[in-house]
Amino acid sequence: MSDPVLHLSGITKTYNAGTPGAVNVLRGIDLSVAAGEVVALVAPSGAGKSTLLHIAGLLDTPDAGHVAIGGEDMTGVSDRRRTRVRRADVGFTYQFHHLLPEFTALENIVLPQLANGVARSTADARALKLLSEVGIEGRATHRPAALSGGEQQRVAFCRALANAPRLLLADEPTGNLDPDTSDQVFGALIALVRGTGLSAVIATHNLELAARMDRQIKLDAGRLIAA
Ligand code: ADP
Repeated sequence: MSDPVLHLSGITKTYNAGTPGAVNVLRGIDLSVAAGEVVALVAPSGAGKSTLLHIAGLLDTPDAGHVAIGGEDMTGVSDRRRTRVRRADVGFTYQFHHLLPEFTALENIVLPQLANGVARSTADARALKLLSEVGIEGRATHRPAALSGGEQQRVAFCRALANAPRLLLADEPTGNLDPDTSDQVFGALIALVRGTGLSAVIATHNLELAARMDRQIKLDAGRLIAA
């Protein structure tokens, strides 16, 4: 069997360790996500979802435990290697779109590809293809301010997938949208993920959305349990 795309073992994280304000956010997290698997991470606000996603995506380091991406244990690797793996293999998307306001939808999806050494014409073609997969190729030349909230999130999903990562980490990706828009935009995200065959961990408090994924896990008192 091939290596899991993401493997977490024995992950712990405490903020303000050794002080009266210490917060034991993660107390021993083990998780494997297989190729093509879409996992819902369900937990209330403050439970540690963002901390866990940042550690899984190599934006933060655990106090103890190991993170492996595509079978490569990232413990102790150089900063340069971590950055390279993060850029090539991991895509992030958040509750707020964080698009660059002075660039068009297309350019927001092109820029990460140029940073990764892709030629402009190839990057343009990929950006347009991604926009058409989420149904908004007609908005390619609009700047974020001229897009609706749902359209902005769709562009942010395309940007997360711009460099064809193998793992998508999404932190409340539709948390800022009204329920109907959230439902449609979430459908677009799932279709995009399924169409590309990548693995995903998607944090949400919405149990209906969570039910549309392959597996649900819950973060409870610093540990993962099956939901
Ligand atoms: P969630 O994403 O589930 O809302 P977070 O991972 O953001 O949860 O936060 C989990 C807990 O850790 C919260 O109690 C939060 O206040 C605390 N926390 C998060 N980041 C820091 C930090 N940099 N320093 C201190 N405490 C933090």
